[in-house]
This record gives sequence, structure tokens and C-alpha cells, in this order.
Amino acid sequence: MSIAKKITSLLQEIPQHVELVAVSKTKSNEDIMEAYNAGQRVFGENKIQDMTRKQEELPKDIQWHMIGHVQSNKVKYMAPYVALIHGVDSLKLLKEINKQAKRNNRIISCLLQIHIAKEDSKFGFSAEECHQAIQMATTLSCVQIKGLMGMASFTKDQKQISEEFAGLKTLYDQLIEQNTSLEILSMGMSGDFPLAIAQGSNLIRVGSRIFGPRSY
Ligand SMILES: *Cc1c(COP(=O)(O)O)cnc(C)c1O
Repeated sequence: MSIAKKITSLLQEIPQHVELVAVSKTKSNEDIMEAYNAGQRVFGENKIQDMTRKQEELPKDIQWHMIGHVQSNKVKYMAPYVALIHGVDSLKLLKEINKQAKRNNRIISCLLQIHIAKEDSKFGFSAEECHQAIQMATTLSCVQIKGLMGMASFTKDQKQISEEFAGLKTLYDQLIEQNTSLEILSMGMSGDFPLAIAQGSNLIRVGSRIFGPRSY
């Protein structure tokens, strides 16, 4: 199936309130343009250098999402254009994003990455740290916390994955009750997006299901 057909069938499969980020990391401009010509405008990358090169080379109405781990010293390269940073996992990084956003006269939208996987290899805030980060963000004028992002454990155990997503949805709902203006819950990838949507995700990050396997 072509990339265009895969996008179309994926969009038919997911509810309308769920937004699709096409994860184009390691993929060529040609592949991205095929998705673009099928109507896709939101793309996700996990390396700032790659994303910046693609942003320069490709149509300017693409919204670029940074979905990977971000090193503070590289924020400056994406600050002029990045549409959403999913992987904010420290106060230091949040402050740096604020500083670079200010330099560019922008307000940069961010998601706080929450550690939901039982594995300890993944980045992210705990639930308590997340409350703190949201508090601190209210003092930063050029970042806006738009929601939460999480990655489930790398396992075949569907029940475990669902429970991890459900935990993140619970935290998200609690924060909304406390008057934070959150609207995005980013969870779900090629292997687990149906489970994530069932648990309340409204933004999924799908790569290989659209572009095929990645060869690094
Ligand atoms: C690579 C990546 C994805 C997409 O993974 P697929 O399994 O190819 O859909 C989603 N989210 C993050 C954070 C990623 O790094």
C-alpha cells in the first residue's frame, strides 16, 4: 500500500477528535511529500538537526512536532518554528524553551512527558513532579503547557499497556479539574494506538504504520 493510502485508511480508522502526528523520523523528503500530498500537515521528528533541515527544505505550512528527548543546548535551533514539543521532562528544559521562545517572540506549546511505563529506561516526570512543573510554568511567559505525553512499556501485554495509558488519563483528568488549561493527551504509536484511544488519547504519534519500517 502507498503512503497516501496508509494515511487515508488510518484516518478512517481513528475517531475524528483524535489528531494524527505522522512520525517521519529517518524518512526522506520524498516520503514526507507523499504524505503531505495526501493532506497530512503534522509531522513528528525525534532529532532537532533532522527536523530543522526538513523544515527548511519542505513546505512552510507543515507543523513540526518534536517527539524525542530534547537536549537543552539544542532548543535554539527549533525555537523559531516548532509547533509542539512533546518530550518536556525537566524544569531546566522548560526554562530553556521559555528563554528561546522569548528570543523569537513566540509562545511555544509544550507537553509534559510523564513516566508511565514500568520499565525505568524511559524519560519523564512522575505525577508529583508534573504538578510542580505546571506550577512553575505559570511563571514563564513564553511557554504554554498544552497537555501530557506518555509512552507505554515495550511489551506484548495488552492489559499492562492499557493500565499504563489509563493511569495517564487519570492524571490528565485530575489536572483539568484543578483548572489547568490542558487539551492534549498524546499517547499511542503504531503498535498500541487503538488501546491508547480507548483510554482517552486525543493525539497519536504514528510512524512505521504509515512509512514502513525504519532502517537506522
Ligand atoms: C518513533 C516514535 C513514535 C512512532 O513509532 P512507530 O512505532 O513507528 O509508530 C512515536 N512516539 C515516539 C516518542 C517515537 O520516538
